[in-house]
Amino acid sequence: MTLDLQGIGMTSPRTRKRMVKRLEEQGISDTNVLEAMFNTPRHVFMDEALSSRAYEDTALPIGFNQTISQPYIVAKMTELLLVSGRLAKVLEIGTGCGYQTAILAQLTDHVYSVERILALQKKAKDILWDLKLKNINYLYGDGHLGWADYAPFDGILVAAAAPEVPEPLLQQLAVGGVLVIPVGENGGPQVLQRITRTALSYKVEHLEAVSFVPFLPGKD
Ligand code: SAH
Repeated sequence: MTLDLQGIGMTSPRTRKRMVKRLEEQGISDTNVLEAMFNTPRHVFMDEALSSRAYEDTALPIGFNQTISQPYIVAKMTELLLVSGRLAKVLEIGTGCGYQTAILAQLTDHVYSVERILALQKKAKDILWDLKLKNINYLYGDGHLGWADYAPFDGILVAAAAPEVPEPLLQQLAVGGVLVIPVGENGGPQVLQRITRTALSYKVEHLEAVSFVPFLPGKD
């Protein structure tokens, strides 16, 4: 596969620069996050027919009834996750097209990414490999279970909304670790939560209203 990494017109670095400026206006201030968003060609993660819209601040279809998260949400969740700086081990639930994975792979030492739709995972893997992002392990499985083999994690990011936070994810968080997850019923109001594990308990912050695809049970 040959990717058009550089991009022209609506996929050019200039368009990406405008996206980053918008993110700053929307309150994203972590310069490492902004830099990764500038350096990552979002258009290569979507179908060519949609690539001219890749830098709009909206969620777009990636097939299988799933969407690529809007740039603001990707930036916001990453910023919330990296509140105390670069992390060593991060678990991502919902690889999807791999865009969020690409951002995480640049800002952390290692990403463990779980996806329940095999075809999406395969596509994401190929693109991330072509982008030379190799500090990623992939699991085809149900994210409700986390990834016990590699726990504990310094950070966990969930890209699908669950009615409640799955217990294994709380258990697989290191002390001091941070879990960022949209919580809410499918079709109902959802709120982005940041949960920090303390020595004896968990601190929960309710951050902002969001709209995610559902966190589905089992593998597809
Ligand atoms: N960050 C991704 C978001 C994709 S949408 C992107 O920008 O492309 C959410 C993803 O979560 C979908 O790919 C969906 O298949 C996946 N997902 C939903 N429930 C899951 C589960 N239980 N385990 C693993 N992945 C899940």
